[in-house]
Amino acid sequence: MAAHPHSFYPTCLLLDLDDTLYQVEEIPNIVRSNIQGYMRTKLKIPEENIASVCLEYYTKYGTTMAGLVANGYSIDFDDWHAEVHGTLPYSRLLKRDDQLRALLESIPLPKFIFTNADQKHAETCLDLMGVADLFQGIICFESLMEEGRKQGVVNDNKPVICKPTQQAMELALKAAGAEAVTTVFCDDSARNVSGGHAAGMFSVLVGRTSNDCDSHLQVPSLHTLREAMPGLWSVPPSTDNKEGLHVAGTDEDASRVPHVVRRQGVSVECAAPSRRREVKVAAG
Ligand SMILES: [Mg+2]
Repeated sequence: MAAHPHSFYPTCLLLDLDDTLYQVEEIPNIVRSNIQGYMRTKLKIPEENIASVCLEYYTKYGTTMAGLVANGYSIDFDDWHAEVHGTLPYSRLLKRDDQLRALLESIPLPKFIFTNADQKHAETCLDLMGVADLFQGIICFESLMEEGRKQGVVNDNKPVICKPTQQAMELALKAAGAEAVTTVFCDDSARNVSGGHAAGMFSVLVGRTSNDCDSHLQVPSLHTLREAMPGLWSVPPSTDNKEGLHVAGTDEDASRVPHVVRRQGVSVECAAPSRRREVKVAAG
């Protein structure tokens, strides 16, 4: 488990997209069905093996697609994303979320989406939820792959880079221009949160609790962040007033929020908002 300083000034918020920024049960079900359909019709994987291969690769490689590529399947990434995400009935499934918008807008930190999904999927979701303009960048499949190629992380032996690997965490932090120790990372996947925790970020599991997750905090939804991490909203400290702010909340705060699990009592001071920056996201 990565050590984390007793107190720090958060400077960046990395947020997963699917099942973290929104929870719509139908979406992962459709995506799973689309993935299995792709494996069946385009990759000609025998029907009886599809479910187990899907699960095995997802577990071992981070995403099913990463596992397929690592095991020799030739995949046109754009075609994969067009089938797996592009066919989602987005406008029926996702609605504008003004409550989420108000919450994100109120957090005085630069925010980045950090997803294993493709850029188009992320943009479509954010647009429909009405929060696209609140993010300084989208760190996604395309940008991780491009940066990974530049740095030699993506190669013949590791053709797809994705959460929860440490390389993906490092690339994301670099894309956001952030330091791990001052970054707050929220994700619904216990495995991803553990990866962020190992990379040194303040890690928050969203939407579930898990005993098998290395995290600093576990919350039922992003909407409880205000109670669970009040320091995220604290007024930036002046030079003579830097004490007494606790991003992770007090034990008393946590006890008032249903299902909030405080894994470690990290006290955190809140920083002045960092200069906003744009992250260049590669196309296809
Ligand atoms: Mg997710």
